[in-house]
Amino acid sequence: MQHPAIPLEKIENDILHQAGVQLSVLRLDLTHPQISGNKWYKLKYNLQEARHLNAETLVTMGGAYSNHIIAVAAAGKEYGFKTIGIIRGEELHDSANSVLRFAKECGMKFLFATREEYRQLRSTRETQRMIRNFVNSQSEMYLLPEGGTNELAVKGCREITSLIPIPFDVICCPVGTAGTLAGIALSLKPGQHAIGFSVLNAPGYHESEVKNWITHFQINPFPNFQIENSYHFGGYANTSPELLAFISDFESRHKIPLEPVYSGKMMFGLMDRIRSGKFLKNSSIIAIHTGGVGG
Ligand SMILES: *Cc1c(COP(=O)(O)O)cnc(C)c1O
Repeated sequence: MQHPAIPLEKIENDILHQAGVQLSVLRLDLTHPQISGNKWYKLKYNLQEARHLNAETLVTMGGAYSNHIIAVAAAGKEYGFKTIGIIRGEELHDSANSVLRFAKECGMKFLFATREEYRQLRSTRETQRMIRNFVNSQSEMYLLPEGGTNELAVKGCREITSLIPIPFDVICCPVGTAGTLAGIALSLKPGQHAIGFSVLNAPGYHESEVKNWITHFQINPFPNFQIENSYHFGGYANTSPELLAFISDFESRHKIPLEPVYSGKMMFGLMDRIRSGKFLKNSSIIAIHTGGVGG
């Protein structure tokens, strides 16, 4: 998988002007029409590994609205793997929503798990064996965890900062499982700082996830990162009229599409922090647009 060229777009508005900072958006959302944004980087080395192991089938799990499910289904079709998605919600069916319809068109087969089954498949040490039993398939399988974060995903995300052609001080991204933020933090140069905007109401969880990855990759000195926990709007996929109004204003001003689950919350939080003077004058800030807008 060759790295596509990714545009870096400079944003201008009064808030930035008054704060005296520069902000550019790295348009990872334009990486690929379906394997959008950070998911492309998370899958890159996993697909190589799956091929290396002669796996025929990619197996993963997710909610019925998961961008990860879309990305795995599309990647399977494009790179020649069968795909199986274990979907949370036994009441669902193949064409329950546009995510599942799209994934099905790509050839993904589904197994619908009850919440209890799903929780067990996700949380046990024996996940791999349990998934193999649950899927009950004869073909060689390559398992991708829920949300797609594993060692090879973090490795892929370490390449994101190399796409930025200008010097920068601060880099921001939204945080779901923290795999993307971990990869970014692991690739920082001295003096650079990463801020992850959590999209879940789970204080403390992301810090420990990123620290575990840093320990795992044995990076020295310890990368400079922080999690911003004040912009999750109540939890995953929760929104508010204020957030939705911000997104449509931002889109019409800057001609960059956002969505309310990830990029919208990050940009709202980032603009709020810039407005309240949290950044030094002349800071050069990069916001990573992680995707999810394709529908
Ligand atoms: C999956 C996803 C994220 C979260 O990435 P993590 O590595 O799980 O933190 C962020 N933005 C978009 C658009 C996503 O689809």
